[in-house]
Amino acid sequence: MIQKVLVANRGEIAVRIIRACHQLGIQTVAVYSTADQASLHVQLADEAICIGEPSAIKSYLVKEQILSAALMTGADAIHPGFGFLSENAQFAKMCVECGLIFIGPDSSVIESMGDKANAKATMIQAGVPVVPGSDGVIADCEVAVKLATEIGYPVLVKAVSGGGGKGMRLAYNEEELRTGFVAARQEAQASYNDDRVYLEKFIENPRHIEVQIMADQHGNVVHLGERDCSVQRNNQKLIEEAPSQFIDEALRIELGQAAVQAAKQVGYVNAGTIEFLVDKYKKYYFIEMNTRIQVEHPVTEMITGIDIVQTQLRVAQGEKLTFSQADIMFKGHAIECRINAEDPTKNFMPNPGLVNGLHFPGGNGVRIDSGIYAGYKILPYYDSMIAKLIVHAATREQAIAKMQVALNELIVDGVETTVDFQYEVLSHPIFKQNKHDTGFVSQLLEE
Ligand code: ADP
Repeated sequence: MIQKVLVANRGEIAVRIIRACHQLGIQTVAVYSTADQASLHVQLADEAICIGEPSAIKSYLVKEQILSAALMTGADAIHPGFGFLSENAQFAKMCVECGLIFIGPDSSVIESMGDKANAKATMIQAGVPVVPGSDGVIADCEVAVKLATEIGYPVLVKAVSGGGGKGMRLAYNEEELRTGFVAARQEAQASYNDDRVYLEKFIENPRHIEVQIMADQHGNVVHLGERDCSVQRNNQKLIEEAPSQFIDEALRIELGQAAVQAAKQVGYVNAGTIEFLVDKYKKYYFIEMNTRIQVEHPVTEMITGIDIVQTQLRVAQGEKLTFSQADIMFKGHAIECRINAEDPTKNFMPNPGLVNGLHFPGGNGVRIDSGIYAGYKILPYYDSMIAKLIVHAATREQAIAKMQVALNELIVDGVETTVDFQYEVLSHPIFKQNKHDTGFVSQLLEE
């Protein structure tokens, strides 16, 4: 049984994990950079260890420091959260080598799914539809040009190690492909230290729909339904909801089965997400698998009543899932807005600084996951997401209304945030009528 968990993360997700541990009677160790000494996760954990300087490459990304902190404090497991080392196969492996439980899938699975070209090849074997494109890595621009002529423009050059929408270039013709190919490789090299890219058909006006799966060490794999994450800016999610009202019950079942099949194919254990694009003809295509907890997991928790982080901890200590597929029921509708300390009038430039005053909304079906408090100084070194506002109501319409009221009530005094922008998106007739796709926000910003 896990007695003590080291949380290898910061911000709201570290707080989220610490809470789940304490609810299960598990002790917690926080790690923090010198800049994070006053952060909430440090205050909530039972113990805290400083692991280095503010820059993540000198703290939250230093595997040895984190492992030393775990061993020194007698932790028996590490929860990586999302971002940082959460999808670093080598880190997962090192945890196990140090006699620690890594709360996530086996390192070999992280490695094979982290290579997006390889992940697609694996999905083809599992019989899951993938976006048409190259068979693996394309090293030569001429090969890319030839393939693009075959599959037809527009095409997307994507980084094999991609994440957060970086290393992606769209091309409508050969000229754009030639420049995009070089640019994508350079960006991929700079962002991931891996310049390998692959080619994919660009699916026009798709919805991003992903399926949450949960698997135990005894071969049980269950899906917890889908999330619709089609409100995006620069290929990054802003608003997520569950269930998706773009798909019907038949497609819901099919996507769920495809996700379970995909997880079984790779011997998946713990929480994971299979991401799909769904086009206007309701054809679906696998794009990638995330082998970790996701930012948007709360919307699934709201409609299923299952605590995903607690389930991660239980599965990691060898427990069987306490629910089967037949037990999973979806109740009502949930929406999440990501609140970022960014200035929408300045192209969403990060806006760190002192939070002078703070008021969080509340009430029935309103949830806030956050790592900030009044008097907290938002730091410039890390991701600009400062809170997630999640609402749950009987219908989508009611959830939108509840979110509008909650956003109106939310005050973060001292820094610019995306609260008003989120309100605008949420109140737009296209969103309200559920007629948006992944290009909606960029169209809105051009208006
Ligand atoms: P990352 O891991 O960098 O976030 P993903 O593969 O998950 O990249 O894609 C992120 C987003 O980029 C998707 O949700 C979608 O909006 C867009 N995207 C990715 N691949 C395609 C594609 N083939 N066609 C159209 N849009 C795409």
